[in-house]
Amino acid sequence: MFKRFVSLAAVSSLLLPQAALHAGPLPGHETVKVAEGIYAFITAESNNAIVSGNSVAIVGDDGVLVVDSGNFPSETRRIIAEIRQLTPLPVRYLVHTHWHRDHTDGDSEYRGAFPNVVIISTPYTRKMIGDVAMKNLDQEIKEGPDYASYLRKVAQDGKGSSGRTLTAEEITYSKEFADSIEAAVAEFKQVKLLLPDETFDQEMAIHLGKREVQLKFLGRGNTGGDAVIYVPDVKVVMAGDLLVYPTPFAFDSYLTEWIQTLGKLKAIGATTIIPGHGPVQHNNDYIDLMSSLLQSVNSQVQQSVKQNLSLDDTRKKVDVASLEKQFVRDNPNRQRSFEAYFLGIAVERAYKEAKGGAM
Ligand SMILES: [Zn+2]
Repeated sequence: MFKRFVSLAAVSSLLLPQAALHAGPLPGHETVKVAEGIYAFITAESNNAIVSGNSVAIVGDDGVLVVDSGNFPSETRRIIAEIRQLTPLPVRYLVHTHWHRDHTDGDSEYRGAFPNVVIISTPYTRKMIGDVAMKNLDQEIKEGPDYASYLRKVAQDGKGSSGRTLTAEEITYSKEFADSIEAAVAEFKQVKLLLPDETFDQEMAIHLGKREVQLKFLGRGNTGGDAVIYVPDVKVVMAGDLLVYPTPFAFDSYLTEWIQTLGKLKAIGATTIIPGHGPVQHNNDYIDLMSSLLQSVNSQVQQSVKQNLSLDDTRKKVDVASLEKQFVRDNPNRQRSFEAYFLGIAVERAYKEAKGGAM
């Protein structure tokens, strides 16, 4: 994903370091037992745009189902080693919440460790892995080192692209971002993306012995084909990037449907929610906050389109300051992330949608 992040982020508005669980240039993970036989591998909040999605292992009577495979093969190998410690049962299924590579880059590690693993996604996700993610992987491997060199030069000169003098924090940030990109590119060279073996349109039930796992497409949202995964016996749901904490991403989103999809997610009645990024949640507060944000952006943009305002004028007009505060909570890193990876893009997506343009 970093290409899409870096192309949007001016050096002056980049994220600043976040320390938790972050020992090296790539974010590590913390393992959380969520319920009996359900383990979440929660990726640390990133120092910068190099992120990895959470993974979850659902252990049944005769096998394991894993949700998402992460962005960095070395980290995926560590997770696989942990799963082997947790159970002697094989990983039989790997399910994708969506096509973004921070959730799929570890696929071939699972195939290597468990040759019979069946990879499952929505048809849209399968198509996007084949049409977009594979090209995007090659491009990031090719362009990553140049971008890292650029960031190192920026740090050395102490000046951003506009010529503005950078603060000490921004200089540190640029250096660390360069380290992260180089570490990520080394990981990406080990990635072999795989096309899912099976797809489902609306629903699919998988039985791991007595334990049932339900795969559901609730409608478009974060992408055109997000899957959520629900384990009814313990009321645990994996939401993928329909929910991203602390600040959402809006890259390929469909705002109007996203609001409806979050309503359906809530209606499942889960008591434990594992977001695509960020810690495990035990109530619907974050779903509600996210819905309010999407509604606010969407209705303001629709209003602007009715008044025939341009996209630029719409951007200037949309005001979500009070909601933004609740995501950002006075953390400047999160504020930069919120503005660069959610707000600007969400306004553009909502504008396109309101104009009836092709998405
Ligand atoms: Zn993600």
